Amino acid sequence: KLDSLDASVSRILVFVRLRPMGKKERENGARCCVKILNKRDVYLTEFTNENDYLRLKRLRVRHFTFDSSFPETTTQQEVYSTTTGDLVEAVLEGRNGSVFCYGATGAGKTYTMLGTMENPGVMVLAIKDLFAKVRQRSLDGNHVVHLSYLEVYNETVRDLLSPGRPLILREDKQGIVAAGLTQYRAYSTDEVMALLQRGNQNRTTEPTRCNETSSRSHAILQVIVEYKTRDASMNIISRVGKLSLIDLAGSERALATDQRTLRSLEGANINRSLLALSSCINALVEGKKHIPYRNSKLTQLLKDSLGGSCNTVMIANISPSSQSFGETQNTLHWADRAKEI
Ligand code: ADP
Ligand code: MG
Repeated sequence: KLDSLDASVSRILVFVRLRPMGKKERENGARCCVKILNKRDVYLTEFTNENDYLRLKRLRVRHFTFDSSFPETTTQQEVYSTTTGDLVEAVLEGRNGSVFCYGATGAGKTYTMLGTMENPGVMVLAIKDLFAKVRQRSLDGNHVVHLSYLEVYNETVRDLLSPGRPLILREDKQGIVAAGLTQYRAYSTDEVMALLQRGNQNRTTEPTRCNETSSRSHAILQVIVEYKTRDASMNIISRVGKLSLIDLAGSERALATDQRTLRSLEGANINRSLLALSSCINALVEGKKHIPYRNSKLTQLLKDSLGGSCNTVMIANISPSSQSFGETQNTLHWADRAKEI
């Protein structure tokens, strides 16, 4: 699947994940408007007149197809192995890669990335897999794993492992780094889930609903694997690979236009990071010389993890509810375009 690892032109894999219908949605009379067949084909149904059950009619059905589509019964492990397993392998070989969850608020991005204690998501399963592979290779040399977990909110970068003042981005010989960002040395999987859950609680919340993570917050987990060994003549050989796992802000804000209030200013900044991300990916896949990384904090931070020999994976999260039809349609259209570049 990742044959193109060494090619100079980037490849982007696009997946769609449908979440199950929630209790509340069912109670509110939501109908299921998405079906996934053959693990590839997505059918989106538009209904007329949502409130009048007798006159409810199917208007039309749209069809999309992706590298893989995950129906609502798909396990976290299956999502992880299909989307991210190969990237973990690549990181051990000293390459960089990134996985993004894209979609509206409530579509299942955080569930897919972080998950719960009972059903850990891609972030935790990737680290688990990484440690298992490091153990297998322990005789070949020494691997050191570091984690950092940060947030981009309103074009401000914060350390989620050690909350405090905003971090400043600096360019040094390793690339762009967030000055003072915690690099947590990880030794086992067990500690990581708790660490990430705590980090996630440090994400910016809405002033009105203080337990709910802001839909404008992007969370980025970076896993850095450093490998050191000696060759036959005892020279030190080392390599570094980096995996970036990103729980993006809700995509429903991407079209916010009102610049007047602080709220909409924040909306505009989210817009900036999401827009900057898509223009970078476009430019990369088209083989352009100039990639506009500088346009947002998100793309500056991911400069060394997008393009070149890096692999990029997009997981588009969608809800089955007819009440989210518009957002689901937007997400599928976006994913469909991303697939073609
Ligand atoms: P987002 O981060 O995109 O706003 P969440 O991940 O918080 O959305 O998901 C919204 C709700 O749906 C949460 O209560 C979450 O636990 C639930 N959920 C999402 N995806 C799944 C899934 N695949 N299986 C079961 N529950 C899910
Ligand atoms: Mg979320």
